[in-house]
Parts: sequence; structure tokens; C-alpha cells
Amino acid sequence: MSVRLTNVAKSFGAFNVIKDVSMDIPDGGFAVFVGPSGCGKSTLLRMIAGLEETSSGTISIEGQDVTQMEPAKRGVAMVFQNYALYPHLSVFENMAFSLRLARAPKEDVLRRVGEASRILQLDEQLQKKPSQLSGGQRQRVAIGRAIVRQPKVFLFDEPLSNLDAELRVQMRLELTRLHRQLGATMIYVTHDQVEAMTLADKIFVLKGGILQQAGAPLDLYDNPDNRFVAGFIGSPA
Ligand code: ADP
Ligand code: MG
Repeated sequence: MSVRLTNVAKSFGAFNVIKDVSMDIPDGGFAVFVGPSGCGKSTLLRMIAGLEETSSGTISIEGQDVTQMEPAKRGVAMVFQNYALYPHLSVFENMAFSLRLARAPKEDVLRRVGEASRILQLDEQLQKKPSQLSGGQRQRVAIGRAIVRQPKVFLFDEPLSNLDAELRVQMRLELTRLHRQLGATMIYVTHDQVEAMTLADKIFVLKGGILQQAGAPLDLYDNPDNRFVAGFIGSPA
């Protein structure tokens, strides 16, 4: 599903964190919000998720205005940086949790968790507790919790930043594969330029709550609009 932000702004008290941001994310796209720490990436993502209210502007998903809609009805699912797994529950129950809350039929829970664990290669880990898993496996469980909800839009907030360099490279490839396999729209937040360049088909560069430039990775690299984008993306301009 396509996601569109129109003149979105957000203030915390007198602090304008997001300033008049408009963006278009095409259906099935892999969009990456990139920019230095504190530039407002997470706030923007949380507004799309409905976890944070907008101060002004509108957010629409597939043409429907969701600005006032509660998170659970938006058809989005968020994957967090710190995994946010339940330590006392098995991998299976962690992935099943939101489905059980929604009182999904038992067969649906089994089928969806089964599908997600196959995609994420977690079949062998379903009875384990999170503490018995590697960092990469824990991150996969966190992604699995989103997949079982069959969202139209996946939201990732720096999901790989707690992993070591080697595992990050591997997980990046897995995310690309997952995107291809699911065909869903993905919106991914990172402060890492390399991650942005390798994952995105469309990059949104932010600085101080202002959208600096949006475009395909190579367009930004070849034709940066300003010195900040050039410096941040790493083009020689
Ligand atoms: P990023 O994810 O790009 O690092 P954030 O969206 O988390 O940036 O934060 C952007 C700015 O907004 C930061 O200066 C942060 O301190 C501030 N901020 C975020 N959430 C709140 C909040 N709930 N109350 C006050 N300030 C906030
Ligand atoms: Mg953040």
C-alpha cells in the first residue's frame, strides 16, 4: 500500500521536531528515512504507526486518511530496535501474541506462525525462550511478530543497530529477500548511510526535522540538492 504524508509537522511543547514534511512512498516500495541522530526519523515513523499524534498535516495509506485512526486499524506493523520480546514466552508464543490478543482462530495462529518461522528460518527455535537465541535470531523473532499480522506496511526502527557488523550485512540481505517475498511496503529508519544505500529503492534524507531530499539512491548520489545531502550520502560533490 502506498503511504503519503502531506505537510506533516510535530511539536513537543515549543520544540518543532518535524517541520512541514511531505512524502510519497509507492506501493511495494522500500523507503528508508536516513539522517543523523535526533533529526526526527523515529518520530516520523511513530506518527505513521499512529503511536504519536501529528501536530498538523495528514497521513494517508492507499489513499485513505488515517491521521486520526488508531494504530491497530492502520494495517501497519512496527519492528523495534530493542526487539521488545517477552522473555518468559517461547519463540512461538512471542510470534503468536498479537494474534491471540485479536482472538484469531487456533488454526490461523498455527498457520501464520508456521509460515513466518519458515520464511525467517526459525522452525527449529519455536520452543526456545528468547534468552536461548542469538542476537540475529531474536531480531528475526521480532520481525516474525510483525509478519504474522500480515500488515500492508512494515515499519522498521533501526532494527539492526544492536547487531555486530557481520550479522548486519547478513540481515540486510535477508530483509531484501523478505521484501521481495512479501511484496509489502517497507519503511525503514536508520542513521547508517550504507544501510540506506543498500536497502532502499527510495531514500528520504532528513536533517533537523526537515526533509532535505527524496529519491533513488543513485539519484541522490549523483545529484545531491545540497551539501548536507552530498556529505551525508558520501558523493564527491
Ligand atoms: P531520531 O530517531 O532521528 O534520532 P527522534 O525522532 O527520536 O530522532 O527525536 C527527534 C527529536 O525529538 C530529538 O531531539 C528528541 O529528543 C525529541 N523528542 C522525541 N520524542 C520526544 C518526546 N516524547 N518529548 C520531547 N521530545 C522528544
Ligand atoms: Mg530514532
